[in-house]
Amino acid sequence: MDTADDTRPGTPPTGNAERVNLLGLTRTGLEDYFQARGERPFRAVQLLKWIHQQRVSDFSQMTNLSKDLRERLGREAQVLLPEIVSTHKSIDGTIKWLVRVGSNNCIEMVFIPDAPRGTLCISSQVGCALNCTFCSTARQGFNRNLGSAEIIAQVWLARKLLEQDGNARRAITNIVLMGMGEPLLNFDNVVDALELMLEDNAHGFARRRVTLSTAGVVPKIDALRQRCPVSLAVSLHAPNDTLRDQLVPLNKHYPIRDLLAACRRYVQDDAREKVTFEYVLLDGINDSKAHARELATLLADVPAKVNLIPFNPFPMSGYKRSADGAIDDFRDVLLAKRIVTITRKTRGDDIDAACGQLAGKVQPKSRRMQLRKSRQPTPPDPVSVTLPTEQLQS
Ligand code: SAH
Repeated sequence: MDTADDTRPGTPPTGNAERVNLLGLTRTGLEDYFQARGERPFRAVQLLKWIHQQRVSDFSQMTNLSKDLRERLGREAQVLLPEIVSTHKSIDGTIKWLVRVGSNNCIEMVFIPDAPRGTLCISSQVGCALNCTFCSTARQGFNRNLGSAEIIAQVWLARKLLEQDGNARRAITNIVLMGMGEPLLNFDNVVDALELMLEDNAHGFARRRVTLSTAGVVPKIDALRQRCPVSLAVSLHAPNDTLRDQLVPLNKHYPIRDLLAACRRYVQDDAREKVTFEYVLLDGINDSKAHARELATLLADVPAKVNLIPFNPFPMSGYKRSADGAIDDFRDVLLAKRIVTITRKTRGDDIDAACGQLAGKVQPKSRRMQLRKSRQPTPPDPVSVTLPTEQLQS
């Protein structure tokens, strides 16, 4: 297998800059690629099947292509996969892989078996720009977007590695974009990768079995609905703007009212569909029964499911996990208001694979981040969003 070592910001891996990486091209992208070279467009489907279904990265093995075409592809193109740096297995069966994307950058992906399901959690960016105060990825700052090839490569690699493990129960049935990064701030690359997850000739996942989780980039929620309406999860974490402004600073750009309106639009065409609202429970911060009642009122007219996430601690987070009793009380208030609510099981915490613990190995990019690392373990101040403004516009 080839490895990627020279990836530049915002581009897919290019082992050899002269050769196009076909891994991240959608069906349309491949059709354009072949048409531009005087080949018939149906080659795109053949390539998709070889690359994503057979998981073959060597053109010489693609036996239903002519010898000439195989040789030409060998000269002009490549199927370039990132390198797995390490594998960590939890006692509960969860597996975390550290994946190298460029010389100093790693991302993490996690497989969570929960028979009959097997969920793969993948990353969309190296680091994250959103500064949610309870998330360890935020502490690294934002490094760069992953290319579509680097995003779909996670699905490709996990399927291949689980297959090699030879355990049929380890099939991936669901994919969640809940790893590192904010997927809607890497919109085009994420949508291309989603199309490859759904495409029958590639990975063939049902739309509802792929979930994108966002902190709430409102215009991009509408854009996703137009382009590729997979299941939507929204990281809410607070029932009012005052508290949410502190925990999820993106809320200052897109307050709860606008966010919930976008959520209603997202599911308006399908009466059975619901948005999943994630709510991380932080001891003494957002976990009282009064908060639960406020949340129930807020969600009364939104087709909603609530996922309560016990906080996963990391060094110097400044937060504590809510007591089990408080989590149950919070859930019971929502259930009494007829809101479908589940408490997410914590998985893989012995290997730091739980929600919000994915860290990769991003080099600190600025003194600000180094200072933040050495800070005392007090609850972090609300930090303003430091995104390039164009990332926040529709
Ligand atoms: N940026 C996206 C996806 C990444 S975070 C988003 O915000 O949704 C995936 C989920 O893990 C989010 O709901 C996030 O709020 C939650 N999370 C982050 N840090 C956590 C922590 N320390 N403990 C528990 N959940 C956490």
